[in-house]
Amino acid sequence: MAGQNKIVEIPAQLTVRELGETLGISPVNLLKALIANGIMATITQRIDYETAAIVAEDLGFTLYLEGQTPPPAAAAAASPGSGAAPGGADAATTVTDEDAAGPGQPWYLAGEDEAGLQPRPPVVTIMGHVDHGKTSILDAIRHTRVAAGESGGITQHIGAYSVTRGDRRITFIDTPGHEAFTAMRARGARATDIAVIVVAADDGLMPQTREAIDHAKAAGVPIIVAINKMDLPGAKADRILDQISGVGLMPEEWGGDTFCIRVSAHSGQGLDELLEAILLVAEVSPPMANPDRGALGVVLEAEIDQRRGVRATLLVQSGTLRKGDMLVVDRQYSRVRAMWNDLGKPVATVPPGDPVAVIGLSEVPAAGSRFEVVASEKAARSLVEARASAKAEGSGAAARPVTLEELFARAQQAEVKTLNLVVKTDVHGSLEPIVTALERLSGVIKVKVLLADTGEISESDVNLAAASGAVVIGFRVSPDVRAARAAAGQRVEIREYDVIYKMVEDIQDALTGMMEPVYESKVIGRAEVRAIFSIPRAGNIAGSAVQSGTIRRNATVRVLRAGQAIAESNVSSLKRFTEDVREVREGFECGIGLASFDDFKEGDILEFAVKERVK
Ligand code: GDP
Repeated sequence: MAGQNKIVEIPAQLTVRELGETLGISPVNLLKALIANGIMATITQRIDYETAAIVAEDLGFTLYLEGQTPPPAAAAAASPGSGAAPGGADAATTVTDEDAAGPGQPWYLAGEDEAGLQPRPPVVTIMGHVDHGKTSILDAIRHTRVAAGESGGITQHIGAYSVTRGDRRITFIDTPGHEAFTAMRARGARATDIAVIVVAADDGLMPQTREAIDHAKAAGVPIIVAINKMDLPGAKADRILDQISGVGLMPEEWGGDTFCIRVSAHSGQGLDELLEAILLVAEVSPPMANPDRGALGVVLEAEIDQRRGVRATLLVQSGTLRKGDMLVVDRQYSRVRAMWNDLGKPVATVPPGDPVAVIGLSEVPAAGSRFEVVASEKAARSLVEARASAKAEGSGAAARPVTLEELFARAQQAEVKTLNLVVKTDVHGSLEPIVTALERLSGVIKVKVLLADTGEISESDVNLAAASGAVVIGFRVSPDVRAARAAAGQRVEIREYDVIYKMVEDIQDALTGMMEPVYESKVIGRAEVRAIFSIPRAGNIAGSAVQSGTIRRNATVRVLRAGQAIAESNVSSLKRFTEDVREVREGFECGIGLASFDDFKEGDILEFAVKERVK
């Protein structure tokens, strides 16, 4: 953050420990910073430059890539007007993870100079059950600006739009539903500041409503409830308030802090109030950004436009995006050729918080990809190359999702305090006992059930788990095909149980560290000693013939004499003739030296074993 800002050169890749040494920071503190950024890593894991830069910024450092020009001190401090720093160092900034910021906390981009921050429009996603009126509300709000005389052109669907109220603005993401919201989170992007949960007043809280609430809660995004269809005779707002309070959201009119606004997308009733509520919630934790820097943000959607090539809608989260800027998205870069807003008007600059459609990219980026502007084509190329080589080495930032076992290991190393779970069961009756049993296991590490529901494990459950670093527990339910595929792709662990005590035992084991890997010794081959050679300085070497299996250099050896084990040792040398070898197969002869035994006798059997992981 602000304050001390040291500039440090690092290579494109290094281990967490090496980074710690370079920065003079303990690896544990580094791991904590990584986890705060949603990156689960171990001390020996290699991380790429970009990841290193993210955490280093949090710790008050500005990194630059080995061989590049160091950024000037002014740019390192991200002073207003500094724009993109050269040498790809601009990539150092990224969105702080919601879990790090936590609900109700102001959040902005990690590494920003707080002095340069200014409020930006809040970004809102509308979620809720199908047919409760999400699309209608989005349309109705969009039309309010026509009434306000704002819209000159024909509204274009670019995936998001903004409305103005007085001197303030709000950006709405135009893809309703929590699927897109969570898919984006699973890619590490936080686009939404506030979630509006739509509930039809004539219908009530439905499974998808609950799911949407859970997803928003898991993301730490503040919630506003819009009770829709108030124009219908069957509308029962009080019943909805009741249900809302039943899922842990206390309505503001009952003394809680959740605004529940009665609206009708058809009559327009309450829409003003809804916008007002959004601005009020935004005031509690104002979204901030620094307009005076190179832009960065997230791709909301992208497609191929027949006439113009790839069209991507970007949400600028900090900085100002300008026509002609050098844009890096994932592993592609290009200049922004043209930009237009949600009214179809060409624009030359886009401030933070605004969506914009751009053309210029050569490939269609995935929704949720992050983008950033760098100073030059050279900087873009080196950033993309660094990412490519990180990928090639198979390191890069470890995906957030983890197995129960990994979670525990990381919990030990870096003091992760929570085990997040997504729980699905076959029948409603088993939900509560299971959640209670699991939450009761909370000790040093807290067990937090992010979502508990009935039904098959869905892709959306997996996405939620991926986005939150959670493990999915299925009680007498399995993942459907898409969920299984998503889990494999995102490395989300799904554990299925059909008895409660077994499930509780497993989680308990994980929490108490009993799931540390179990290794068993496995015999891989045997050799018989045929002759003994005394070698100066090296002691006795057993000239042997491999009787069965394959013997290996990296094995442990038991020396058997007349069927009794008389010694056990590691291999110190394994040679065929004069050549060092890694292994020798059945039927071949070789010379074997042991580290702590050399009193061989002809006829001894050397039994080679390796440790294999069994659990
Ligand atoms: P979504 O699936 O949540 O996006 O729901 P839609 O916006 O598509 O709306 C579903 C249905 O509810 C449509 O037939 C709408 O016309 C209707 N609807 C939406 N809002 C209202 C409302 O405020 N009042 C009434 N009476 N009907 C509504």
